[in-house]
Amino acid sequence: MKCAWVHCQHGGEVDKKDAVKNGTRYYHPDCLREKIAINDIIKLYHERIDDHPIENFLRRTVNELVFKNGYDAEFLLFALRYCLDHGWNLHSPNGLYYVAKDKISKKEWDKRKEEENHTVTQVTIEGETNYDVNPIINTNKPTGFASILGR
Ligand SMILES: [Zn+2]
Repeated sequence: MKCAWVHCQHGGEVDKKDAVKNGTRYYHPDCLREKIAINDIIKLYHERIDDHPIENFLRRTVNELVFKNGYDAEFLLFALRYCLDHGWNLHSPNGLYYVAKDKISKKEWDKRKEEENHTVTQVTIEGETNYDVNPIINTNKPTGFASILGR
């Protein structure tokens, strides 16, 4: 079936088993994430910077950053929110280029991504550790009881 994201990077066709539904339309999971992130960037811009921007200019700028310059849309959304929370004043969509290049936002983003990965790894290791430790406890116990009972 057809992926409904106009900027689909996968040739526009999606297998039904891989597709995610949004409203009445189907998408690749990452296409939908990208679409939502871009819409959220535009929404955030309206809410926090200018509720009457030149829409075409704003959308074109975001599209250019994502599809021409290769910035992850979810990172851009994060960076925009981060910069605004840290006192940045943007006066036009051009400011988004500075947001995209902001090193502090990028560092913070990478740190969070790493923590997410770390959390997943930790859970796996814990599971393995429990599995390894339990047999040892079990083999020790009878010995412990045996020595208490004086056998
Ligand atoms: Zn797609």
